[in-house]
Amino acid sequence: MHILLLGSGGREHALAWKMAASPLLTKLWCAPGNAGIAREAECVALDIADHAAVIDFCKRNNVALVVVGPETPLAAGIVDDLAAAGIKAFGPSREAAQLEGSKGFTKALCSEFGIPTGAYRRFTSAADALAYVRARGAPIVVKADGLAAGKGVVVASTLREAEDSVAMMFEGAFGAAGAGIVIEEFLAGREISFFALCDGETAIPLASAQDHKRVFDHDQGPNTGGMGAYSPTPFVTPEIHDAIMTRIIRPTVAGMKARGTPFRGVLYAGVMLTAEGPKLFEYNVRFGDPECQVLMLRMMSDIVPALLAACDSQLRNFDLRWYPDSALTVVMAAKGYPGDYNKGTRIEGLDEAAKIEGVEIFHAGTTAKDGHVLANGGRVLNVCALGKTVAEAQRRAYQAVDRVQWPDGFCRRDIAWQAVEQEKNS
Ligand code: AMP
Repeated sequence: MHILLLGSGGREHALAWKMAASPLLTKLWCAPGNAGIAREAECVALDIADHAAVIDFCKRNNVALVVVGPETPLAAGIVDDLAAAGIKAFGPSREAAQLEGSKGFTKALCSEFGIPTGAYRRFTSAADALAYVRARGAPIVVKADGLAAGKGVVVASTLREAEDSVAMMFEGAFGAAGAGIVIEEFLAGREISFFALCDGETAIPLASAQDHKRVFDHDQGPNTGGMGAYSPTPFVTPEIHDAIMTRIIRPTVAGMKARGTPFRGVLYAGVMLTAEGPKLFEYNVRFGDPECQVLMLRMMSDIVPALLAACDSQLRNFDLRWYPDSALTVVMAAKGYPGDYNKGTRIEGLDEAAKIEGVEIFHAGTTAKDGHVLANGGRVLNVCALGKTVAEAQRRAYQAVDRVQWPDGFCRRDIAWQAVEQEKNS
C-alpha cells in the first residue's frame, strides 16, 4: 500500500515511524517531512497548500491513503478535495474541521447536544463583549473564534486583562481569526487531553495524556506549542474515562452525524476535570503535538488498519491494543523559543542518546546538511521514552536528553512532575 503523510513536525515523525512498522505498507512518502522523517519515508518537496499538486502526486504514484498531520490543510478542505478526486484521506472534512477552526461552532454544538462545557457567549462587536465581561467579572477566558496557531486564548485573571484582550482581538491581533470572539466561563481543575478515533458514527478511545504548555519549569513563562507530554495520565481514572466517552466524545460524534457533517479522524478533546465532572474546553481535529509521540510509542496494534477503518466507517468492530507502559516525551527547543531563535545550529550525540533502553527520538524541526543534523525550527527534537512507571520513563528520557550535544537548545526538566508525585504517594 502506498501512503502519503502530510506535515513536517514531531507528530508526523511519530506517525511515519508507526506506519513504517506496518506490514501493509510498501511505500511511504512525507511532504515536506524533516531530517528524522527521512529515515522512515521518502520526503518530497510538495507544497501541501497546493491541493491540485498533492492530488497530482497521489495519482502519479498510486497513493491509496493520505494521512493529514496538521490542522491547517484540514481547515482548508484538503480531505474534501482528495475525496472528490477519488483519493482516500484520513482526517475530517472542512465542515467537520470547524470543531477546531471555530470556537463558536463547538460551543453551539455543545449547547445543542448537552455536552458539558463552560458557560459562554459569542460576540462580533467589542462594545457588547466588554459589557458582558464587566457583568461577569474575572477570572474569565477570552478566545479568538478562528485558528490562531494556539495563541488565541487569554485566561484573564483580572477584569483589566479581559478588557485588554477583547480590545486586542477586535483590533486585529489575530487577523480574521479574531473577527468573532468567544467569552467563556473560567473552569477550575486539572487539565488533560483525551484522544478518540472516529469514523463518522463510531468513536473508539485512543488514550489520555497530559501536556505542558508553558516554556519553563514549574509552569512559568509564556505558552508554547507544548514542551513535553506523557501518557496515560493517572488523573483519568476508569470512571473519568467513561464519563468523557459517554458525555463528551459520543454525543459530539452523534451530533455531527445528525447535522449531516459526520466527523472522521482524530478527535482531541481538551478537558478540564472540574468538581462537577469533566468539561470540554476545546476540540482539536488531529493528533496533538507532542501527545501523538507518546501515543504512538504506546500503541501495540498496527495503526494503518485503524486509519483505514476510520476512513471506511468500519470502527464499530475494531479494537486497538496498547502497551500498559508509560510513555513520556521531552521537547528540546532552540534557545529563545517561543520568541526569536536561531536556525542552523548543529546537533550531535543523537545516536548515543537513542541507545538508552526504551528511548526513541523524533525530529520536530530539523534539516540535514553534509551529514550533520541542524536545528530548523523552534521545537526541534522530541526525546521520548517508555517505562514501567512514569518515573522510569522520565528518568530514561532525561538520560537521553543529557547525551544530546546541542549548546543552542534547552528543555524543561520537570515533564510529568504531577504524575511522578502521584506515583510516589500511591
Ligand atoms: P487552547 O489554545 O485553546 O489550547 O487554550 C489554551 C489554554 O487555555 C488551555 O490549554 C487551557 O489551559 C486554557 N483554557 C482554555 N479554556 C479555558 C477555560 N474555559 N477555563 C480555564 N482555562 C481554559
